[in-house]
Amino acid sequence: MHPEALAPRGRGLRGRLATAALDALAVLAPVACSGCGLADRAVCDDCRRALVAHPTRVSRPGLARCDAPPVWAALQYAGPVAAVVGAFKDGGRTDAAPVLARALHAAVVRALADAPSGRAIEVCTIPSTARAFRERGYRPVELLLRRSGIRSAPVLRLARDRADQAGLGVEARRANAEGALVAPRSLDDRRFLVVDDVLTTGSTLAEAMRALTAAGAETVALAVLAETPLRGSSGTGDSWQTFRDNAVSGDYGGRTGVVDPPSRAG
Ligand SMILES: [Zn+2]
Repeated sequence: MHPEALAPRGRGLRGRLATAALDALAVLAPVACSGCGLADRAVCDDCRRALVAHPTRVSRPGLARCDAPPVWAALQYAGPVAAVVGAFKDGGRTDAAPVLARALHAAVVRALADAPSGRAIEVCTIPSTARAFRERGYRPVELLLRRSGIRSAPVLRLARDRADQAGLGVEARRANAEGALVAPRSLDDRRFLVVDDVLTTGSTLAEAMRALTAAGAETVALAVLAETPLRGSSGTGDSWQTFRDNAVSGDYGGRTGVVDPPSRAG
C-alpha cells in the first residue's frame, strides 16, 4: 500500500477515501486486541506472549478422589489470558482462535505423552448446552481442537441441561455437575483424553470421567486450556494443590497422535 493511503484526515479526497476504507475495514475485522483492548490485531504481541503455553500438571481434590489422571493446563486463567479466553468464549472473538488453539494443542500433546501406553487414545470434549451453542454459534473447545487438526469423538451427551457453572462455589458445582453427562453408547475398552476449556474445581472433568467409566471406557488423560486457582479454600487440609512441571517445551508440537488424530483401534 502506498504510504499516502494511510494518511490521516484532512489530506484531501484521497486521504478521506483512505480513512473511509480503513473505517470500513474496522467494521469487518476487529482491530482491538481481545486481551487488552489495544488497537491492534486480534491479539497484540504482548498478549500473544502471555498466551504462549507452559503446560503445567495440576490437580483438584474432587479429581484426586476419583483417581483421575493429572490435568495438563496450558495457561493460568488470569490477566490477558482470562480476557482473551473470555472474549473467545462469550464475546464472539473467534479471531483469537489460532493463538488459543496453539496453547490447547500444547496441553493435549503433553497430556498424551503423560498417559499410560497401550491402546489408542481418543479425544472427547464436554458438550455445550443447546442454549450456549445457540448464543455463540460455535463450540469453543471443538473449534480450537479442529484448528489444531485434532478430531474428537462425540461420545458424551448432556443428560439434562445443567445451569451454567460460572459463579457457583465448589459444592454447588459438584451438585450441579453430578449426573449431568451420559455416554449413550457402550464405550467398552476405549480410552479417552478429556479436553475442556477452563478448569476451576474439576467437577466437570470428574463428571465426564464418571460418565465414561459408566459406559465402560477409561479416562487416561485430561487437558485444559487454562486453570483458575481456587480462592476461599480454608487452610491447607482439603485445598487444591498445583504441581508445577516445567520440563515440557521439548515436545511442543510433536506428533503424538495429535496431528494424526488418535482413532479407534478396533
Ligand atoms: Zn493485547
